[in-house]
Amino acid sequence: MQKQRYERPVIKQLNTGITNKFGAQSGFTPVTHIDGVAVKDLLREYGSPLFVFSERTLRQTYRDAYAAFNTRYPNVQFAWSYKTNYLNAICNVFHQEGSWAEVVSGFEYQKALRNGVPGDKILFNGPDKTEADLLMAMEHLSPIHIDHLDELYTLIELSNKTGKRPKVAIRVNMDTGVQPIWDRFGFNYESGQAWDAISKILHTDKMDLVGLHCHIGTYMLTSHAYHTAAHKLSDLALGIKKQFGQLIQYIDLGGGFASKNTLKGAYHSGLDVAPSFHEYAEHISSALLNAGFKTEELPLLMLETGRALVDDAGSLLGTVIANKRLSDGRRATILDFGVNLLFTSFWYEHTISPAQDCSQYGEEAVLYGPLCMNIDVLRENVKLPPLNRGDQVVVQRIGAYNLTQWMQFITLRPKVVLIDMEGKVHLIRKDETLDYLLDRELVPDHLKQFEL
Ligand SMILES: *Cc1c(COP(=O)(O)O)cnc(C)c1O
Repeated sequence: MQKQRYERPVIKQLNTGITNKFGAQSGFTPVTHIDGVAVKDLLREYGSPLFVFSERTLRQTYRDAYAAFNTRYPNVQFAWSYKTNYLNAICNVFHQEGSWAEVVSGFEYQKALRNGVPGDKILFNGPDKTEADLLMAMEHLSPIHIDHLDELYTLIELSNKTGKRPKVAIRVNMDTGVQPIWDRFGFNYESGQAWDAISKILHTDKMDLVGLHCHIGTYMLTSHAYHTAAHKLSDLALGIKKQFGQLIQYIDLGGGFASKNTLKGAYHSGLDVAPSFHEYAEHISSALLNAGFKTEELPLLMLETGRALVDDAGSLLGTVIANKRLSDGRRATILDFGVNLLFTSFWYEHTISPAQDCSQYGEEAVLYGPLCMNIDVLRENVKLPPLNRGDQVVVQRIGAYNLTQWMQFITLRPKVVLIDMEGKVHLIRKDETLDYLLDRELVPDHLKQFEL
């Protein structure tokens, strides 16, 4: 048997909470303020429930992430993943910080254009781009990230028809050592599909191949997977240089960095196990820098990180509707928001805290939302001080995906506010009204009247 390679062991600190002489920590810390603004004032003024974003946290997180990469690699660009949170005020904070846009539909594409993002700074991903979408992206010189061969052939046709050369990248999927392999999007690296697509693009000479893209998964706890991904994309880029004498402008490693939320059933808190931006940056930059590029030919490193940039900046505030005992004696607390507003509670064990002084003694409880639907459960089992009707709660780290995946089900969606750098509160999305919804509905003449 071959001798195994030696690897230096590393010791890493894990914090699972301070214990006292009775065991694990039992105290509860209420969250009474967000960026200096009192939760109770926010709820009084804007109603309950309420989404609150911190501009300070948004900018700080962005700057921390960017600095982690920018200090390790000479040429870095972020592109904000619209589907993670496409409220214009949030997108524009990131655009002000220098981020381009990354979109996955014609709708998101147009949203980015209307926000004022120049077309050549909108990366167009996703499997479902219509001909009209592709023509729009060609018109605005946006990099189109090709997902499958049918799209490649459509682009060749459109190029023939219009005489224009689309700017394209291909999306590559690959084995990064993390299961399950995300191979439904893009062209596979190991099987040679990716190289085949590259050859087709370069030999047919109808479009400009500007980038190579991958998005290897989401909430990736293994930062090393990005080393593998960067290595494999570099390999393709160097192959293109060798065979076609052509330089690739950018290597895009997508998103997928974990936020500090805790996954359901996870043993350790997300605060302890989510890799830092520095860990991701170290793996990615070392793979790119050591791949064999000449200094002046190093590709631009593009990143589309979503949840890790926005999760921490968002909170959901709400109010206790009632308490009850279930048939087995368990305490149940009903809140005025449920999975309709907190879609991510299907995956995360969110941190839910009282917003006012509370008892230091907790009781295990199940937290329900207000919907008449059995799966409307926010936490199956969480130890909280007893909360009474009218008490307020804060759910932290909810900025990613909840405001794009929320449902208008049974009830209307509430207001969203942003607290700016000076502590001033701005309404950034109005609450929905019955009129707003009815505006979209049509009733045929024969169904307008009835008698009961
Ligand atoms: C969703 C998505 C992202 C953002 O993913 P996160 O896991 O939120 O970082 C980036 N790129 C593409 C192509 C995506 O589909």
